[in-house]
Amino acid sequence: MQEKIWLSPPHMSGNEQKYIQLAFNENYIAPVGSNLTGFEKELGKYLGVPNVLMLTSGTSAIHTAMMVLGIKDGDEVIAPTFTFAACINPIIYQRAMPILVDSDQESWNMNPVLLEKAILDRIKRGKKPKAMVVVHLYGMPAKMNTIREISNRFEIPIIEDAAEALGSRHQNQLCGTLGDLSIISFNGNKIITTSGGGALISRNSQYISRARFLATQAKDDAPHYQHSEIGYNYRMSNIVAGIGRGQLEVLNERVKTRRANHDFYVNRLGNIPGITFLNEREGAYSNYWLTNMVVNPLLTDGVTRETIRLALDAANIETRPLWKPMHLQPVFAHCPAYVDGTSEQLFNDGLCLPSGSNLTEAQKERIVSAILKVIKK
Ligand SMILES: *Cc1c(COP(=O)(O)O)cnc(C)c1O
Repeated sequence: MQEKIWLSPPHMSGNEQKYIQLAFNENYIAPVGSNLTGFEKELGKYLGVPNVLMLTSGTSAIHTAMMVLGIKDGDEVIAPTFTFAACINPIIYQRAMPILVDSDQESWNMNPVLLEKAILDRIKRGKKPKAMVVVHLYGMPAKMNTIREISNRFEIPIIEDAAEALGSRHQNQLCGTLGDLSIISFNGNKIITTSGGGALISRNSQYISRARFLATQAKDDAPHYQHSEIGYNYRMSNIVAGIGRGQLEVLNERVKTRRANHDFYVNRLGNIPGITFLNEREGAYSNYWLTNMVVNPLLTDGVTRETIRLALDAANIETRPLWKPMHLQPVFAHCPAYVDGTSEQLFNDGLCLPSGSNLTEAQKERIVSAILKVIKK
């Protein structure tokens, strides 16, 4: 058996250990310390937004954003159906109701036409949504101009889930700076990783102060432990932040490599009838966190995404179907959904290809020949 090729494995720079050693030297094995403040400052500088709060995960960052916006029991929150469950779960943590909206063909992200339709229908039924979560799936920026216009017109704030989109840009503005509150994930499979972690970002410094309070056990300003609200233990540790500092140093290189992976696959497979890729539209610059292939079996002599996935699995190459839409998940079946079949079709026909920044040329050749072998059979 040939060596395993993973979908999106961690890729260390070698600089991480220096920062971890710093934490040990200072004996700050704690959720405070110079790595934590350093990582926040350095990410803030990269993004051009100084208000950054490092947390234990992207999920806890989304949850904290919900709390900052005061989402509570009985509220409705709009979210894309085509996403990862971690993007929706925090709505339920707050006992609010997710209102699911389908994707458009050009970005695979929230379809602005269906978004407006959903908002108008919810208002007609008596409740205006309290917030909307907007995701840039696989690193591809959502249609932020239209979505921002709708957000402003209806006065519904945006929680931007840029978990997969660090380094992506919408009209030259970095993803992670486009929401009223924005989040990034440093989970093990993301473009840079701290093993686990997340960031909450906002241009509004009061939002970040409030988030810091909630994420550090909601301690009132008193010499003793005094509490008037429920808090959470959501802060990133100083050790983990050290890994983040070493990773951030190579972010630009990682974006370049992931983009080159996408170009490689498109060049080698893009001309095959029935095989398509999600490409950038004008104004969208993707970090191409993952490269995804859509297989139309009507044009490939019946070869499906599943045929290809199983053949690659047998060749010890990890791939994954695209996200299964939330409105098709048993746990979210009760949520109102404004869908038109787009995400369901992407789930049926789409495959995430190995996209790590540490893929070798030989590995990429192995992947492409394994795919060609199935299609040309
Ligand atoms: C990874 C991811 C999250 C969750 O981030 P964690 O750091 O794993 O908690 C949320 N939303 C999307 C779209 C993601 O891909």
